[in-house]
Amino acid sequence: MARIELRGVAHAYGPAPTSDKDYALRPLELTWEDGGAYALLGPSGCGKTTLLNIISGLVRPSRGQVLINGVDVTAAPPQERNIAQVFQFPVIYDTMTVAENLAFPLRNRGLGKAETQARVEEVAGLLELTPDLRRRASGLSADMRQRISLGRGLVRKDVAAILLDEPLTVIDPHVKWLLRRKLKQVHESLRVTLVYVTHDQVEALTLADQVVVMNGGRVVQVGTPQELFERPVDTFVGYFIGSPGMNLLPCTLEEGGAVVEGQRVPLAPETCAKARADGGELKLGIRPEFLRRVPEGTPSSVRVEVTQVENLGRHQLATARLGTQVLKVRLAEEEHLSAGESCWLEFPGQWTTLYAGGRAVP
Ligand code: ATP
Repeated sequence: MARIELRGVAHAYGPAPTSDKDYALRPLELTWEDGGAYALLGPSGCGKTTLLNIISGLVRPSRGQVLINGVDVTAAPPQERNIAQVFQFPVIYDTMTVAENLAFPLRNRGLGKAETQARVEEVAGLLELTPDLRRRASGLSADMRQRISLGRGLVRKDVAAILLDEPLTVIDPHVKWLLRRKLKQVHESLRVTLVYVTHDQVEALTLADQVVVMNGGRVVQVGTPQELFERPVDTFVGYFIGSPGMNLLPCTLEEGGAVVEGQRVPLAPETCAKARADGGELKLGIRPEFLRRVPEGTPSSVRVEVTQVENLGRHQLATARLGTQVLKVRLAEEEHLSAGESCWLEFPGQWTTLYAGGRAVP
């Protein structure tokens, strides 16, 4: 099992980086504890795969050190790191059977036939491949091929860590949830360090104990799914996490409050003072889930016009206009709104964040 540390790791693909922009990965510090489940989450091109490949040894970083269990492996080739990697597109041998593919990573590891077979059967059971063990891999569906690929990553119980690079992208949507659950079970039973790359927040939030959010080659926030949801450090995380993302309303400040389209939302005086000092564009952030319909005149509330209401099973998602600005509101089960009506929405102080220059003001 492995504790993975990245110290000042940065990477530029070009030969001689001259500015920050030349780095696919800006200098970062990260520590992943033994046995944890971590997700790297961010939009396409933000550097997730680069970071994963640096850990596995496929890419040697331009700067910094990679430590596995305290040992500097920055210069070590992949085969010396005892790490399994599963890629977005399945890497399997078409000429072999499913069982032979699963057994492949166990070759030359001094295991007897019986133990090899037992492990193959265990992994096949976990991934629901048992009925297909004797089939040839060629001609199998994309999601079966990816399950075999996952199985090859999981079959070696002695690996220090398993790195997965968007492994569910090619999987049929209705099988995805099953594989997500399987992966979680596998992690819970093996307790191997798991690093999971994805641009899909549902995958990241359901699989990982801790999520590393990246943007533009930088780590922008590291936190539990709950921390990312409740306390996004900047407007990028606020909007990227959540469905829909955080409402971010341009505002101005007056004594003890923010003003949005002429309506006032109280804020702590220290927050206003700090935002003035920080400078930059001001935005008032609140998640659709935290807005509450309240009676007229309730403190910290604003008047809005409801323009659209979507039914999402037990909940409604409303779109409302606050002057020229648009707000999303996820209503609690017992609340109801209709398009065309106006109502008052409360911004609970605990869940309302002021952002100055994109950064949360404490
Ligand atoms: P995706 O989700 O699309 O795979 P990502 O977050 O994994 O994206 P990376 O693949 O790490 O991002 O890419 C980060 C940046 O580095 C991108 O601008 C990409 O174009 C660039 N890049 C990646 N691999 C190479 C390479 N081999 N040579 C040159 N540039 C590269």
